[in-house]
Parts: sequence; structure tokens; C-alpha cells
Amino acid sequence: MNVFFDNAATTPIHPEVIKRMTEVLADIYGNPSSIHAFGRKAKCVLEQSRRTIAKAINAAPSDIFFTSCATESINMILKNAVRDLGIERIISSPTEHHAVTHTLDYLSRYKACEVIYLNVDSYGAPDVQQLKELLQDNSKKTLVSLMHGNNEIGTMSDLQYIGSLCAEYGVLFHSDTVQTMGKYPINVKDMGVHFLVGSAHKFHGPKGVGFAYIHAAHRIGPMILGGAQERGLRSGTENIAGIVAMARALEIAIQNMDINTVKITALRQSFKEQLMKAIPHVHFNGNQDNLFMPHVLSVSFPPHPNGDMLMMNLDLAGIAVSSGSACSSGAETGSHVLAAIGQSHDHKTIRFSFSSWNTEEEVQYVVAKIKELVKSN
Ligand code: PLP
Repeated sequence: MNVFFDNAATTPIHPEVIKRMTEVLADIYGNPSSIHAFGRKAKCVLEQSRRTIAKAINAAPSDIFFTSCATESINMILKNAVRDLGIERIISSPTEHHAVTHTLDYLSRYKACEVIYLNVDSYGAPDVQQLKELLQDNSKKTLVSLMHGNNEIGTMSDLQYIGSLCAEYGVLFHSDTVQTMGKYPINVKDMGVHFLVGSAHKFHGPKGVGFAYIHAAHRIGPMILGGAQERGLRSGTENIAGIVAMARALEIAIQNMDINTVKITALRQSFKEQLMKAIPHVHFNGNQDNLFMPHVLSVSFPPHPNGDMLMMNLDLAGIAVSSGSACSSGAETGSHVLAAIGQSHDHKTIRFSFSSWNTEEEVQYVVAKIKELVKSN
């Protein structure tokens, strides 16, 4: 049996999305910047997709910009908010994805702006009281960058509350919504965000396509220069098939959001209960009571002679999971998120992440395998 429990890393593409993408690849090959009929056809599906994405987050279509991935969107928003909007201070959290922290470290290293990382609690949630206190100092033009759901431990932030604080103190608010897009209702107006990002491959769309929401009142300039596509903000011929596929994937995810949430929550609960029975002293990282994403379960296993081999042995058994974090070469590095919540290095931590495609049989198979592997050592 092959089991994919690594859905926070990426997701399989929905068959309907593959179908639509294939149709577009075959039939709509005009360049959307061309004024002839072939180009106009491509432009038409491009703009339809923009409207679909905008509707999904209650934004104006003109505030949606297509990019190659969320990492690109985040880099563009953070760097160019400093360059073009006069941002002098960015307040964020050490538990953000590296797309945010590495960009902020870059900005700080080159003294482009001051970067402040909030304290986090043992669940990895940023200290909003500290945020409030920092915002009382309004001497520097400020942007707050806090993610909606943490990709490693599943803890969520209350965006509505953070958005209301940002509004109260008149600062800009960016949120990395990569892990909650299509899984949680997102409304840019209610949440008071000025910038947010999404990535198709996290919600059963293809890799290599993402988007940025940028509020009209806070337009930044481009990071990539060229033919002035995307109204000058992101040059380069658009990935039409990828963009259409992303819009379709998000539409499907939103249509099935409630049913998927119920299914994934039940899988997670069943997995947790069976694991606690099978392995005494397992520990679950991140918030488990409220404000957590059901598709992510971070498990720390008690110290064990062959604990380090667990992930590899699961892989040999056909089970795909993630360690705390890995760099792009696949080599394990210490997780900055687990370090931020004070997780001990003695514990082997594995992230199991689910999608609605997973089943209870898979849960049972994985728990049985873990039990066997831990016992056999
Ligand atoms: N932010 C979060 C929370 C993520 O989980 C990821 C992907 O792992 C990213 C950003 C980067 O997304 P992309 O792969 O589209 O660059």
C-alpha cells in the first residue's frame, strides 16, 4: 500500500483540474498579450480565472496578480512594500515559512528596514499582546506579516483579530495564507488584510503557479521587469494552463470545503487516537484544542534508538511523510518552528498531513507500520 500523508508539502492534482488543464494546453495556446483571436481567447480565460480567484477571497479582480508560486508573491510583497510604500518596520513571527523569514532576514541584513519577530507561545502562536504594545509606537511606517496557518505544526492565527489591530493602529497587514487557501473561508475585507498569497499545488492544483492579492490602495511596483504583463506588476508571459487550473482547483476546493473539513478532521482524530494507543508518550505539537488546521498533525515520538530511521523506514513501507523541515535538497535541517516552540532535539518529530483523498484504511496501515517499526528496535 502506498500512502501519501504529506499534503502540507503538496497535493495530488484533482482529475477535473488535469482535464481542464489539458484542454487549455491543447487548445488555448495564444499569447494573451497578442491582439489576434488566438491571443484574445487566452486573455479571456486568464481574466475569467482572475475573477474566480478574486471571488473566492472577496477581492476585486484587479487586486489579483498571478505569479509562479507563493514564494515569489511573498518576496515581491515584502521587498517592494519596503521599497515602494516606505515601510520602515516589519513585525512578524519566527514560526513563519522560510519564504517570509528568509526575505525578512535579507531585508534586515541589508538594513532596508527594521525586522521584529514576536515571541510565540508553546503552540507557536505569536504574542498578540506584544504586537499591540509594539504598534503603540507609531514612529515608523509598519507592516505586520503573520501567517494564517502554520505548515509545520498546524497552529492557526486569528486573522480577523490581527487585522482589526492593524486597522486600529493604521498599519499594513500581509498574511501567508498558503496552507488555509481552499480549506478555510478567506475574506480579505472581513480579515482586514492588505496583502495575501496563495499557491495552487497546496489545493490540488499544479505546481509552479500562485497569486498575490494586493489592495488597490497599497500598490507596489514590480520585482520582475519585462513585457509589463499583469498590469506591469509581474512581467513574463502568463502560465495560462496553470492559472486556469489554479482557478478551477480553488473553485472545487471551496465547493467541497465543509465536507472535506469534516472528513479530514475525522481522519486526524482517528490517527491521533490510534497513535496514542499504539505508542505511549507521543506528543502532538501545535494547538490541538482550537485554532488548528485539521490537515496537519505534528507528532514527536519519545527518544528511541532508531528514531532517526523512522521516516526512512516509513518511506520504505510506501508511506510519505515529512520531518520537521527539509531544505530543497531533501536533507533534513533542524526545524526553526520546532526550535521556536522549544521542542527538544531528543524527540523525533514527524509531520503527517492529510487531504480528503486519504482514507481510514490508510490511517490504520500507517499506525500499524509505526507500531511495528518502533517495536522492532
Ligand atoms: N508558505 C507556506 C506556509 C507554505 O507551506 C509554503 C509551501 O510549502 C510556501 C509558503 C511556499 O509556497 P510555494 O511552494 O508556492 O512557493
